[in-house]
Amino acid sequence: MAESYDVIIIGSGPGGYVAAIRASQLGLKTAIVEREHMGGICLNWGCIPTKALLRSAEVLDHANHFKDYGLVLEGTVKPDAKAVVGRSRAVSARLNAGVGFLMKKNKIDIIWGEAKITKPGEIVVGKPSKPVVEPQHPLPKNVKSGEGTYTAKHIIIATGARPRALPGIEPDGKLIWTYFEALKPDVLPKSLIVMGSGAIGIEFASFYRSMGVDVTIVEVMPTIMPVEDAEITAIARKQLEKRGLKIFTSAKVSKVEKAADSVTAHVETADGKVQQITADRLISAVGVQGNIENLGLEALGVKTDRGCVVIDGYGKTNITGIYAIGDVAGPPMLAHKAEHEGVVCVEKIAGLPNVHPTDKGKVPGCTYCNPQVASVGITEAKAKEQGLDIRVGRFSFAANGKAIALGEDQGMVKVIFDKKTGELLGAHMVGAEVTELIQGFVVAMNLETTEEELMHTIFPHPTVSETMKEAVLDAYGRVLNA
Ligand SMILES: Cc1cc2nc3c(=O)[nH]c(=O)nc-3n(C[C@H](O)[C@H](O)[C@H](O)COP(=O)(O)OP(=O)(O)OC[C@H]3O[C@@H](n4cnc5c(N)ncnc54)[C@H](O)[C@@H]3O)c2cc1C
Repeated sequence: MAESYDVIIIGSGPGGYVAAIRASQLGLKTAIVEREHMGGICLNWGCIPTKALLRSAEVLDHANHFKDYGLVLEGTVKPDAKAVVGRSRAVSARLNAGVGFLMKKNKIDIIWGEAKITKPGEIVVGKPSKPVVEPQHPLPKNVKSGEGTYTAKHIIIATGARPRALPGIEPDGKLIWTYFEALKPDVLPKSLIVMGSGAIGIEFASFYRSMGVDVTIVEVMPTIMPVEDAEITAIARKQLEKRGLKIFTSAKVSKVEKAADSVTAHVETADGKVQQITADRLISAVGVQGNIENLGLEALGVKTDRGCVVIDGYGKTNITGIYAIGDVAGPPMLAHKAEHEGVVCVEKIAGLPNVHPTDKGKVPGCTYCNPQVASVGITEAKAKEQGLDIRVGRFSFAANGKAIALGEDQGMVKVIFDKKTGELLGAHMVGAEVTELIQGFVVAMNLETTEEELMHTIFPHPTVSETMKEAVLDAYGRVLNA
């Protein structure tokens, strides 16, 4: 007889494994199905290994600026691509094993294989329909079972996303890379074209530039990191260009010609001209698309839209007993959004009172390039588009003591308030460690804070976080240190 559960979760990424833990905490008999890597894209091919690479880049950047800090370096510091990638893979392996351990600790059954929903309440697990991305970490020791039929009152789809490809410029794994190849180069290319300047593209561009690679970014929108505030990304662009990155905006790669060991991209610029740019490799970073195929969704009548499962604020689909969370349930495709949706979904299933639907307007976004960019809430352009009456405050890192002492005085904090109510509508940052700072504003927004409460908050000195308070003061004509 098919083994039966309260909840079966398909996919062990940050959405799936966190949902499984919460379900188990709430006393639900839980199983998780995974076909490839425990921890999903995030731990194995996304958030974590990229941050490990970017840490190597950061240390190298610092080493190249020892002199600025009164330090003498005898000899040179050079990247060893194999060792840099090796460190990144080791970090990923550690966390991958950690997810296996967490499943065991929380008494969650791991079912190995690819799941398909055959009817509400039933899945069949079979062999993966696509090859596993190599190298694969060892499977967790606590895999309970594999191919077979399983039943559950509630089935949560947490199958994530994969790289999107442009027709005619499909990644081939050799000359045209996706993030998978970009994360594990055997040798560093001498030159690189990055197509797309969202978070993924810009992080790889920043990493490879730090490694000494000649990098060209081509972005179809008028600004890099197009979802971010334009004033912030203009500052980021200036600094990236200062680091030697070449950037084309309002430009698109219309064609790519391949040679034995190089590619030539035809880049159409806004003035209608076409430039040919040749490089060793091209990274296609034009977005991701939900993994909705081979799950049986069509036969079940599960509603999808633009490649993602349609859900309400609690992860419910239009079919009773079937839920979706994380990347497969649509943007913003971020790990912390996936985790949060997983917890909300499971708490609702368990019947907990006062479960709040996920508020996508309060999901922070972080890009770990050099300089870092972070934000929460709406941009100035969006606020104007919505016809809101706003107050905007700004504060530069150049007037912050700690930033100057760190040698990191290039950055800015920008805040947007509703003029009438004083509600914080958006916060945007560029500069060192802003991906850590942004959480201050996320908490504030979640508590529906106003300018007054922020002004009454004491920020420690000397810290870069003081720029946050100064930006708030600036919005109300009360800035102190500028
Ligand atoms: C290069 C890169 C860098 C990134 N950096 C960040 C970052 O810094 N911060 C951030 O928040 N986000 C980042 N992201 C995005 C982040 O990785 C995703 O938002 C996150 O992984 C989504 O989690 P998920 O649980 O929805 O799905 P995933 O992590 O994609 O996991 C889905 C899992 O489901 C499994 N699966 C799929 N179909 C089946 C099936 N039928 N049966 C069984 N198993 C199945 C897959 O094998 C996979 O393991 C990055 C992404 C990339 C590519």
